[in-house]
Amino acid sequence: MSAYRAPLRDMQFALRELAGVEGVAALPGYEDTLDVLDSVLEEAGAFAAGVLDPLNRTGDKQGCTWKDGEVSTPAGFKEAYKKFADAGWIGLPVPAEYGGQGLPQILLGPTLEMWNAANIGFANGPLLNQGAIEAIELVGSHEQKQRYIPNLVSGRWTGTMCLTEPQAGSDLAQVRARAVPDGDRYRITGTKIFITFGEHDMAENIIHLVLARLPGAPEGTKGISLFIVPKFIVNDDGSLGDRNDVVCASIEHKLGINANPTCTLNYGEKGNGAVGYLVGEPNRGLEYMFIMMNAARFSVGVQGIALADRAYQSALEYAKERIQGRDLKPGSRTPEPIVKHPDVRRMLMLQKATIEAMRGLAYVTAASLDYAARHPDEKVRKEHKAFVELMIPVVKGWCTESAVELCSTALQVFGGMGYIEETGIAQQYRDVRIITIYEGTTGIQALDLVGRKLLRDMGAAATSVGRKMEGVARECGAHSDATVKRVGEALGKALATLNEASQWIGMNAMGDLHKAFACSVPYLRLWGVVAGGWQMARAARIAAEKIAANDSESDFYRAKLATAAFYASHVLSQAAWHKRQIVEGSGDVMQLSDAQFELDRKTAAAV
Ligand SMILES: Cc1cc2nc3c(=O)[nH]c(=O)nc-3n(C[C@H](O)[C@H](O)[C@H](O)COP(=O)(O)OP(=O)(O)OC[C@H]3O[C@@H](n4cnc5c(N)ncnc54)[C@H](O)[C@@H]3O)c2cc1C
Repeated sequence: MSAYRAPLRDMQFALRELAGVEGVAALPGYEDTLDVLDSVLEEAGAFAAGVLDPLNRTGDKQGCTWKDGEVSTPAGFKEAYKKFADAGWIGLPVPAEYGGQGLPQILLGPTLEMWNAANIGFANGPLLNQGAIEAIELVGSHEQKQRYIPNLVSGRWTGTMCLTEPQAGSDLAQVRARAVPDGDRYRITGTKIFITFGEHDMAENIIHLVLARLPGAPEGTKGISLFIVPKFIVNDDGSLGDRNDVVCASIEHKLGINANPTCTLNYGEKGNGAVGYLVGEPNRGLEYMFIMMNAARFSVGVQGIALADRAYQSALEYAKERIQGRDLKPGSRTPEPIVKHPDVRRMLMLQKATIEAMRGLAYVTAASLDYAARHPDEKVRKEHKAFVELMIPVVKGWCTESAVELCSTALQVFGGMGYIEETGIAQQYRDVRIITIYEGTTGIQALDLVGRKLLRDMGAAATSVGRKMEGVARECGAHSDATVKRVGEALGKALATLNEASQWIGMNAMGDLHKAFACSVPYLRLWGVVAGGWQMARAARIAAEKIAANDSESDFYRAKLATAAFYASHVLSQAAWHKRQIVEGSGDVMQLSDAQFELDRKTAAAV
């Protein structure tokens, strides 16, 4: 696999021309953004290509090893983490008072994309670390912030998020880990599974953020609290004290992301419980997690863009090199590179168009995360918050589901060599498969979209975003450029199907909830396809105007316009299919009894 080259030009386009980074740079505290933007992108691209990418394949092959509770990461990971921290990448969005750079969330779009494209096995560490920093920053005490955040930013320590237990995955109401008061601290017992970087050798200490129940806490989601449980207790002077009673019992053997350890952690095996410290108020742990989840789910959506783009880069290079079959055009006598064949072109265009749409949508959403946090006008903050809440399950669900399909398409471009590990595309295909599962499965994202985001406010947020999309569809549909007009009209049609599907779900939710939720995943995908089309229509209009003005990068913009046209005919057109699944097919989903699923396996004798 050739070296990773970050798509810096398209990132700049999505940042500047779609997401309006200038607007974000006008928010209080973010005034330096534009001064550093180009260098952040260039340096991140160089770091991803120079430091992380070379460890991607070796990390996958070598994997992690567990011995007597200690975990070793693949060769080079420890040094890479130090370089990553020293270069200031951990602290990119963290306020300067904790040693961070205090840059806006919008810059997480391109930087996260680069880390994950180059090496998702590595990048998962900083991603979870960021979650731990945010949790402490959001609800930790002053003392907790001072004690933990600077060390998590400097890379001396790393953080984890410990939610999942054997009986509590999607359903965190079933969390059973216990926390018992012990003076000014707590004693934690229980088992957490699937904890990313739960144990490793890359830092001196690990700060676990753990969900557990206090004695007498209410059942369900309202009785879960959040605790800091350090691997080594931190003394008052900041030095490391005793080893805490949290032990890595094993690591998982996985389909992909082999370079990062996925750990089972036992708390309090020795009998007294691991020492923990309450974060925020009792019984509000899950609520805190949900506030943070926007950022974490956004990040996993970006992992989808990253892996799809990396796979696309490889597929394109292979398609230009692999000589096979003559061109269809008359008179062609010798075999040509497969990139000449229309079907290979179709596969490459599908990847390129969907990736650009996803990137546009993700960066626009990231800009709203910044407006929601920092805009001086409360009304504007609220509008952006509502937009973000609606879009997060879409960015997470649609970008990850699409990425799985796009990595499969990229592998198909390689033919048989795609199935062989040495080309590297097989690793992409294995690595990408997790992203529709962790940070909430696609089913859970869709449940959130329909239940909490669509039905709870009677469609108010969806209607408001719909109006914005309608405006773009109308303007593009009336544009003088024929391609922009075509994309605008396609967006208008797709939007009408989305509105119909939303209304259908709203109506049916008043009666049969099973039926209303039966196609929540197709509904989520419908949202993704249309919202991606919204960004592609905007992109097409911008491109046409640049071309008309003889912009020096007209070739880039011509490609953008053609890519938007492809998106309209090949991706936006999926909207009609999704709508039919919802409106015509939801009733079919629950038709069989549990027993009827088994009837095709009965032997003749049993019938
Ligand atoms: C490699 C890896 C890394 C991970 N890292 C972490 C980590 O760092 N920290 C952490 O706490 N956890 C982590 N996890 C756990 C991960 O978040 C869970 O696996 C995930 O949330 C799904 O839970 P589950 O595996 O129990 O699946 P289940 O909840 O059992 O779901 C099984 C299936 O049922 C569906 N389903 C479940 N409930 C519903 C419902 N109500 N409606 C519709 N469909 C439903 C799901 O969509 C899924 O298809 C990790 C997991 C893996 C594999």
